[in-house]
Amino acid sequence: MKPRSEAPALSEFELIAKFFTRPVRHTVLGVGDDAALIAFSPGRELVASTDMMVEGVHFFSDVDPDALGHKALAVNLSDLAAMGAVPKWAMLALALPAADADWIERFARGFFTLADRHDVDLIGGDTTRGPRNVCVQIMGEIDSGRALRRDGAKVGDEVWVSGHLGDAAAAVAHRKGDLLLRGSVLAHCMARLDRPVPRVELGRGLLGLASAAIDISDGLVADLGHICARSGVGARLTFESLPCSPELMPLRGYEPVVRALLAGGDDYELCFTAPRGRRTDIDALSGRLGVALNRVGTIVAGSGVEVRDAHDHLLALEKKGFDHFR
Ligand code: ADP
Ligand code: MG
Repeated sequence: MKPRSEAPALSEFELIAKFFTRPVRHTVLGVGDDAALIAFSPGRELVASTDMMVEGVHFFSDVDPDALGHKALAVNLSDLAAMGAVPKWAMLALALPAADADWIERFARGFFTLADRHDVDLIGGDTTRGPRNVCVQIMGEIDSGRALRRDGAKVGDEVWVSGHLGDAAAAVAHRKGDLLLRGSVLAHCMARLDRPVPRVELGRGLLGLASAAIDISDGLVADLGHICARSGVGARLTFESLPCSPELMPLRGYEPVVRALLAGGDDYELCFTAPRGRRTDIDALSGRLGVALNRVGTIVAGSGVEVRDAHDHLLALEKKGFDHFR
């Protein structure tokens, strides 16, 4: 085996220049000055969000750095997807225990592969030594007044979910020893946990169709609960209608999988509401994008989210989603 070369550690500035400075495509001034400059299009609103990922909380310490780079950006893109916005600019604040060039190079590869796919410029950030922590800020644009918000759901609207639910949470349950997954099922669930696909095109396609939207980061019941609270309505879900991947289907009856479907975070699918009259348009959008869109319930008068089984029995949910302080 070739001994690992003992290259001198890179300085903070060498590291930024080498790994995080890339040509920008729609930015006046990117990395390298005290701040970035963006020229803004008239008639558009700035859409901004940030999401932090902390070692031991959001990722395991042995995480593949390429996957972490992907996911740190993906979870932020998912927030813009839920607003129906076009993502354009990202900033990256990074705390690392050491300037490990190999680790950073792989992290940057995961980050930029996804950034390129969505034509996002990295326009700045901060780099410091500390316990591993990745904080991305994302910014994008949308025509003024058109964003998908949480507060637009109306009584009688139907509740929809994209893709499949529960895969990522099943992978976490496996890592914690609460569920045993094997072979291709394990590989599928781990990939969904490590490399979520933000539903950016779907979010944009839902403009003018959906009455409210949110991305599922903390679990369906909790996140739909946010739509309900902001819209002043309640929701009724049927457990049987929740979309489950073919891989997880044989385990669907197991308690940890039931929990993953209803309250598992980290799927980064979109949950949205729409009037019944938009069914055909939504099915057409699903076909055009090749993304499954399933109706899972309805919006009702009242408050909170109720889940019923096929016999119309209420399911008792002791934990509705992920909360950092409970
Ligand atoms: P300042 O001391 O003015 O805060 P820094 O030395 O922290 O500036 O950063 C220098 C430049 O490098 C800035 O443009 C900053 O936005 C950028 N930058 C620092 N860290 C990162 C990073 N991890 N990714 C992208 N850009 C970064
Ligand atoms: Mg700084």
